[in-house]
Amino acid sequence: MYRRRVPAPGGDATVHSSMIGKVEKAMRYAHEQDRVKLEKLTASFAGDNGTHTVSLDADTWHCDCHFFVAAGGCSHTLAVQKMLDPMLSDASRETPLYGHIEVASPA
Ligand SMILES: [Zn+2]
Repeated sequence: MYRRRVPAPGGDATVHSSMIGKVEKAMRYAHEQDRVKLEKLTASFAGDNGTHTVSLDADTWHCDCHFFVAAGGCSHTLAVQKMLDPMLSDASRETPLYGHIEVASPA
């Protein structure tokens, strides 16, 4: 690990222990994904039949595949929604896909 020796006001020990505190807090935060809410992202998605660009902006998903245009959601956006679920707002967790699924009710 690279460590630069920089004289700091208050002395190295103070800065060092403060940095340890920050890193320890970050390690705790890293397990608390719901602290982070994604507001905007763009990702490439390697689907079985090709790579697609999936994006989220202002709680609205978009994908450049043909199915998305027709249904307003697709396997790519839904998969990304599931991967990122703890970091999404309630609105960006929604998908129109489930509304298209016909659920066979037990007789
Ligand atoms: Zn798609």
